[in-house]
Amino acid sequence: MSAPAIRKVVVVGGGTAGWMTAAALARLTRAGVQVTLIESDSIGIVGVGEATIPPIRSFNAMLGIDENHFLAHTQGSMKLGIEFVDWNQPGHRYLHPFGEYGFSIDGVRFHHVWRKLRAAGRAGLLDEYSMSATAAGLNRFSAPVAEQNSPLSQLVYAYHFDASLYAGYLRGYSEARGVVRREGKITDVALRGEDGFVEAVTLEDGTRIEAELFIDCSGFRGLLIEEALHTGYEDWTHWLPCDRALAVPTENAGLLTPYTRATARPAGWQWRIPLQHRTGNGYVYSSAHVSDDEAAATLLANLEGKPLADPRPLRFTTGRRKLAWNRNVVAIGLSSGFLEPLESTSIHLIQSGISRLLALFPDSGWGNAERDAYNAFTRSQYERVRDFVILHYKTNGRDEPLWRYVREMAVPDSLTQRIELFRNRGRIFRHEDELFAEASWVAVLLGQGVTPTGWDPLADALDSDQVATMLERIRTTFRRAAEAMPDHAAYLSRHCASRGIA
Ligand code: FAD
Repeated sequence: MSAPAIRKVVVVGGGTAGWMTAAALARLTRAGVQVTLIESDSIGIVGVGEATIPPIRSFNAMLGIDENHFLAHTQGSMKLGIEFVDWNQPGHRYLHPFGEYGFSIDGVRFHHVWRKLRAAGRAGLLDEYSMSATAAGLNRFSAPVAEQNSPLSQLVYAYHFDASLYAGYLRGYSEARGVVRREGKITDVALRGEDGFVEAVTLEDGTRIEAELFIDCSGFRGLLIEEALHTGYEDWTHWLPCDRALAVPTENAGLLTPYTRATARPAGWQWRIPLQHRTGNGYVYSSAHVSDDEAAATLLANLEGKPLADPRPLRFTTGRRKLAWNRNVVAIGLSSGFLEPLESTSIHLIQSGISRLLALFPDSGWGNAERDAYNAFTRSQYERVRDFVILHYKTNGRDEPLWRYVREMAVPDSLTQRIELFRNRGRIFRHEDELFAEASWVAVLLGQGVTPTGWDPLADALDSDQVATMLERIRTTFRRAAEAMPDHAAYLSRHCASRGIA
């Protein structure tokens, strides 16, 4: 017989992580579970997470959120991928688009077939066989359709949005569904004598709030998971040396692009995220390689629009909490770890932590199986995303001290093996449950200049003339479909204009 269900859950923190968690847990209130979220306006939130990856759409769909309503209320825009500028060498750019390139032909992965034909001068650029890249290149967007024979079914996208507005949006959603918000700063965390579980938290005004399960969404500090439970942190700075960022919003200038841009700079890289009412910009840098003043000067000298505020400094240590679930505390969001936003993965790691928590939701028997499964998966997910982010650094072609260091450093064996495998015959070997699909690895490896010496021999078994005709058909079909789409800004103003859109 199962132990009784958990009846009281407290979420600590009201940033993106806290409100996403509360919104997902709101369903439990119908099963009689009391969900309380505590946040402190005086502490505030990080709030700079603005670019996402496609699974965010499933999260919103799971909550039953209407896309256009949500985008209008978060000043959102569409994202078809990330453009990397100057990573390989100054002047070079490539796109990591969402979705697939072409399709497998007789079981041979598309990029092998493409490489063979490209070497013979019979294929275009790889991006021309990606629906998302083709639309991004023309600055177009249109909602995909489900019919598999339509090129629009191949369009895969995510969003850019104002993270503070997203948290506010989910707050409204959660409160309407029974989540109780408590404003106040937690000043004390009480642990139970017999097993060290968190028993209650106390607010500045003396209010004591008890619960059986605590979700720590308190940000970098990890109020419960670290300050109270001393769980420990695995530091990955030796692989990812950037440890600071400066964020600055600007007025929109130039095109409202349906993609994020990440431009390499002498001691890090700069992001550009276009929203409806403004553009988010920031410089992620290594403090060992540049001073804060110099970083600010570089950022301010490389903005397209007029700054709307002074650059806001942020500090972080890349790595992960040794256990994301410790005793009766589950850390979600920045409290569970941090990877720089190069591939916009933080909000996804929040979403995936929430899905795992729901799938392994504990009962008052507190068996170890759920906790261990949660921790094992969280660890492997963090490590795989980490490897993908390191890949961009390891394969760079720049010449400044930071870039030479990361090119020459030893990287995790798992990543070395992948790069070598690709260099040989362009093969990618990945675990089924990995976040980044084969097409993403291909985009970044080729984009960074890792050129395989050969291709899968099975590609030689295909009839080159037939394959060339197929490729041409894909290319022209995608091109025509993209040309028929509206301009990205026109799409937004027609379907999901915020009150602030220009
Ligand atoms: P926070 O936003 O820090 O929220 C912490 C909450 O805890 C706050 O509500 C605070 O009031 C509360 N709190 C803390 N202490 C107490 C206390 N004592 N009492 C009561 N309440 C307390 N992610 C992406 O997916 N895409 C991006 O493009 C992206 N860009 C980023 C750029 C930078 C430079 C950084 C640093 C991060 C970026 N991220 C990005 C990550 C993203 O910002 C975070 O994942 C997201 O904001 C979640 O933060 P959080 O909710 O965990 O923490």
